[in-house]
Amino acid sequence: MTDRFSFALNATDGRARTGAIQTPRGEVRTPAFMPVGTAATVKAMLPESVRQTGADILLGNTYHLMLRPGAERIARLGGLHQFMNWQRPILTDSGGFQVMSLAGLRKLTEEGVTFSSHVDGSKHFLSPETSMEIQRLLGSDIVMAFDECPALPAAEEDVAKSMRLSMRWAQRSRDAFGDRPGHALFGIMQGGVTRELREESAEALKAIGFEGYAIGGLAVGEGQEAMLGVLDYAPGLLPEDRPRYLMGVGKPDDIVGAVQRGIDMMDCVLPSRSGRTGQAWTRRGQVNIKNARHADDPRPLDEACSCPACTGYSRAYLHHVFRSGEMISGMLLTWHNLHYYQELMAGLREAIAAQRLDDFVAEFHAMREGGDIPPL
Ligand SMILES: [Zn+2]
Repeated sequence: MTDRFSFALNATDGRARTGAIQTPRGEVRTPAFMPVGTAATVKAMLPESVRQTGADILLGNTYHLMLRPGAERIARLGGLHQFMNWQRPILTDSGGFQVMSLAGLRKLTEEGVTFSSHVDGSKHFLSPETSMEIQRLLGSDIVMAFDECPALPAAEEDVAKSMRLSMRWAQRSRDAFGDRPGHALFGIMQGGVTRELREESAEALKAIGFEGYAIGGLAVGEGQEAMLGVLDYAPGLLPEDRPRYLMGVGKPDDIVGAVQRGIDMMDCVLPSRSGRTGQAWTRRGQVNIKNARHADDPRPLDEACSCPACTGYSRAYLHHVFRSGEMISGMLLTWHNLHYYQELMAGLREAIAAQRLDDFVAEFHAMREGGDIPPL
């Protein structure tokens, strides 16, 4: 155990990297996938079950938690780790992205954003300073700088203006974060899909200095090709000795593409959200458990998967409980999806360490191209 935040690379393969982040709350093996615990819970999962899938770290949402139950209340109750019974590392976002995507009426100024809550309409204010304070109250291990990002497609001029505001906010976030040993502050690169803007943003962030760097403003509607196009150069603009976090990504093939391009951390609601809508992610691609073809199928979702959904239940059962609206449906499919994602990350880490990432990626794509097992 350490009382500091640190990051070390163990191996590289091409541009891909594997290593580990050390924090006082434990180690995060990279590349890492962070399940999303929006409202202090990864929906349908006990924290110990999330850990059993292989997750080292969770993501919590500042926007949701500040509105309900409130950051001061969580602080009084011992902080987010204690409150949600997850003692390992937690990363919190800054709230900026969700203010833009979820809040009602909002007003953006140089100072920050005034907005009304999507829960009860109450008025709130978020700025670099208030976001740092809320994330401190939550007790987050990895704190994200407060930023702003326009939805794509946006005019380059608007993307540039927004990026420069985010860079001024990055400096204010750094100043407000203060000296907190054992905790890390990550800066967020913006700039849309324009290389010059990404370069300008990376330079601004490096001049400020952060414990880690995120690539923001992707997975916001630009499509996979454009995203991977940015990832062909963006990670290389960031310091090699700091973790690189791609925010809000993604589907399994997005994750593989990002890791190949030098990304160390990712988060996405997809595996847990899909689990509640009858969608399973497997080695053979996506399986829609709602489909009538599963109604009489005694086989597991994936015979090679060691999760509880695959070892204890048939496709027929998973189909039945989904159709019947039973809670266990979301529980089992979420567990399976998170297990699959973590197994994918473990496979990527091992392949990078063994310098056989190309083979691993080829197998990954070949398996998916084969599609699901044929119906009985
Ligand atoms: Zn499974």
